[in-house]
Amino acid sequence: MNFIETLKLKSKLFFIFIIITLGLIIVGVMGAINLNSMKKNLDSLYFGSLVPVVELNKIVQTYHLGVANTFYKAKNAQITPYEVKSQIKTAIEAIEREWENYESHFKRDYELEYVEYAASEIKDANYYFYRIYEAVEQGNDAKKLLIGNIDKKIAHVHQVINKLIMYEIEVAKHERKNFLALYDTISVKVGSILVMVILGVMLISFYVFKSIQSDQSALERTTKKLKIANKKLENASYTDSLTGLHNRRYFNLVYDREIKRAKRNHTYITFMMLDIDYFKQYNDTYGHIEGDAALRSVAKVFKDLLKRPSDFVFRLGGEEFGILLIETPESSSEIIARNICDGVKAREIKHEGSKINEFLSVSIGVASCIADEALDDEILITKADEMLYKAKENGRDGYAITTNISFASPHIAEEASA
Ligand code: GH3
Ligand code: MG
Ligand code: MG
Repeated sequence: MNFIETLKLKSKLFFIFIIITLGLIIVGVMGAINLNSMKKNLDSLYFGSLVPVVELNKIVQTYHLGVANTFYKAKNAQITPYEVKSQIKTAIEAIEREWENYESHFKRDYELEYVEYAASEIKDANYYFYRIYEAVEQGNDAKKLLIGNIDKKIAHVHQVINKLIMYEIEVAKHERKNFLALYDTISVKVGSILVMVILGVMLISFYVFKSIQSDQSALERTTKKLKIANKKLENASYTDSLTGLHNRRYFNLVYDREIKRAKRNHTYITFMMLDIDYFKQYNDTYGHIEGDAALRSVAKVFKDLLKRPSDFVFRLGGEEFGILLIETPESSSEIIARNICDGVKAREIKHEGSKINEFLSVSIGVASCIADEALDDEILITKADEMLYKAKENGRDGYAITTNISFASPHIAEEASA
């Protein structure tokens, strides 16, 4: 059954369909053949035995009722000579017709001799009766009819025909026995074929369904793996490979989504733009590889400080980062900005090229407001950028913050801290 495994799902179902169809065809053909042979047997039982017996009985009856009876009536002068002629003629014609029918049926070779003998006896008897009614017709007195002789003749023919009847009954018994035996054989044969076909179809169906099931499980496993791989891929496409922070692509997605939500709900939204101070000098002093390590360290500080699910930290490019805070008032945003500045310095990443500190530091521009419908989608970024510039101007290693951004003529409350 290995080849079933190699088939595709569609082919497997087609294979099952073929097997079931084949099974039905086999059962149908075998049933038709056997029914046909039963029909032949029934035919031979009916036309080979039952019909001949009926015909022979009719002949015997006609001799008694048609012939003997007519002569009795003639002797007792109950009917005219003309009626004698017509009734005997009708009876003999009927007998000849029935005999002709009987003779026309199939006869076995060994029957032929006796059939011929019976035919000659019937012919002889008929001729005898024919001569009697002719004599009556020609004016002989019917009262002188020798009924005893007539009875004797009829009794003889009756005996001859009876032998044939007995024989036909024997044949019928034999045919019936054959028929019943054949019926049993056919029942067993058709039953066995049916059982075999059903078992065969069941067995093959079992293998096909087992194979489909294992295909299904394999498909489910692959789908699961694919889902995990997709998730990884999706994460990878939104993750900065150096720092493990969200990347700019993810920033675009989240920023749009969150600013819309804040505008809808009229809630606080804060965006921070961060830039490492004198990082060019850092690279120049310690090399690019150390620079990368420093970027990772700074990123770690951000991650450690911002753990809420609604805090998002992005590496926007080079040594610039973005932080998006949801439902965080400006006072809290300010504290976070200060903590970040302190946290980076607390890492004590030596920075000899820095003009303001012996350790690596960051400057932060913060834009915070309660969002409303009038809020321009890009304004937070612009304002945070302006504040970053301001923080740099103010001597770096610190933050500058602005609020109430959503008004058309911006009333900007700016604070700077060193
Ligand atoms: P400041 O921001 O304080 O004004 O001075 P800066 O020296 O940091 O100035 P600027 O922002 O112009 O310099 C950014 C430097 O960051 C330039 C580049 O050497 C460095 N940089 C950008 N991306 C990477 C990076 O992926 N790895 C490393 N090691 N350095 C980077
Ligand atoms: Mg920069
Ligand atoms: Mg810089």
